[in-house]
Amino acid sequence: MTTLNSNATPAPAARISDVPSAEGRFGRFGGSYIPETLVAACAQLEEVYQSIQRDERFWDELRSLQTHYTGRPTSLYLAERLTANAKARASHGHGATILLKREDLAHTGAHKINNTLGQALLTKKMGKRRIIAETGAGQHGVASATAAAHFGLECDVYMGAEDVRRQKLNVTRMKMLGANVIEVDSGSRTLKDATNEAMRDWMDSVEHTHYIIGSVVGPHPFPMIVRDFQSIIGQEAKAQCLRHIGKLPEAIVACVGGGSNAAGIFYSFINDEHVRLIGVEAGGTSSEPGKHAAPLTFGEPGILHGSLSYVLQDNDGQTSLVHSCSAGLDYPGVGPEHAYWKDAGRVRYTSVTDDQALDAFLHLARAEGIIPALETAHAVAEGIRLAIEMREDEHVVINCSGRGDKDVEEAARLLNARQSR
Ligand SMILES: *Cc1c(COP(=O)(O)O)cnc(C)c1O
Repeated sequence: MTTLNSNATPAPAARISDVPSAEGRFGRFGGSYIPETLVAACAQLEEVYQSIQRDERFWDELRSLQTHYTGRPTSLYLAERLTANAKARASHGHGATILLKREDLAHTGAHKINNTLGQALLTKKMGKRRIIAETGAGQHGVASATAAAHFGLECDVYMGAEDVRRQKLNVTRMKMLGANVIEVDSGSRTLKDATNEAMRDWMDSVEHTHYIIGSVVGPHPFPMIVRDFQSIIGQEAKAQCLRHIGKLPEAIVACVGGGSNAAGIFYSFINDEHVRLIGVEAGGTSSEPGKHAAPLTFGEPGILHGSLSYVLQDNDGQTSLVHSCSAGLDYPGVGPEHAYWKDAGRVRYTSVTDDQALDAFLHLARAEGIIPALETAHAVAEGIRLAIEMREDEHVVINCSGRGDKDVEEAARLLNARQSR
């Protein structure tokens, strides 16, 4: 295992946005804890990524895809009935206006496409012909399969058997797009196990294969690259707020699995200290170990999938089992930049339970005609809770990370089970 500067005290970043360091450190978090076989691949990726920073053709091609293929910019939508409901429950002078950043309207139905198109372009730059990916809810798998189809790349997607069951629609979509879905039967048969298998594949295939990690996790330079490709969300949201409400919002709320949609919308606002940023983890069924997936709320620093961050682990340092009704949040780790933002006090992290998320899922569907992903429903629940406490002249933006078509069957099953309880 390679350990980069694990004992060195990193110099503090001048601004909280000026990370990672050259070693891939976000404060003390991040870094690169990987087997020898992957060191060269990560170094090559970093080199290519540095080289495209001033490559106008790369960014022109990406921007053109974002506009004509993904459908960006996604809208910033004023949720009038959601707002009215929040105001009705608020005390006098309270009840903020709720705006939704509509990543659910991006092609394939979630923010994941922002990252996979960028990384597929990098794959082409590196002259590789195959991509692999891990997926939980299947959205990253679908977005990877989509990018692969667009660029004519081979694509294998690793997915836990439990998630294959929960997210059938996305499995069918991936196959339809020409990708191969590899079912993972080890461990808890969810996202962590799929990630392990994808990393194993990459060790044997780095020469012709790029591993598109689906969130701001993994060894350096992945957390930085994924954040940068997702930061289009916050750049647009900032410009849209200035245009539509003439100011920045007072608060922004996003759900946190690995943390890519949250990092994507937060990053442009990190230095705007009067904008409150709130990350929402999966509270599952209770705060007991194994019953939730909230490493920033209940975890300890540890190493998972190549970087140092908050991880849910038992007393022996073994990664804990996790639970969430939402397959995309069902992960015991979180991106290192979130760990850094948490310890710096810049972002507040909280959690929302399965039951609260289900309520918000139905509420958004019926108040606005928008069926959100179950992941997104966690952010919606916290956003509504916050709006009720905020002043009536204030604004809260909720990142609507994805649409819920993939979840309607699972949500119906959970709602039925709740009724008969
Ligand atoms: C994958 C996914 C998430 C969780 O991943 P992050 O990296 O934390 O954004 C959240 N919402 C949707 C719709 C997803 O597909």
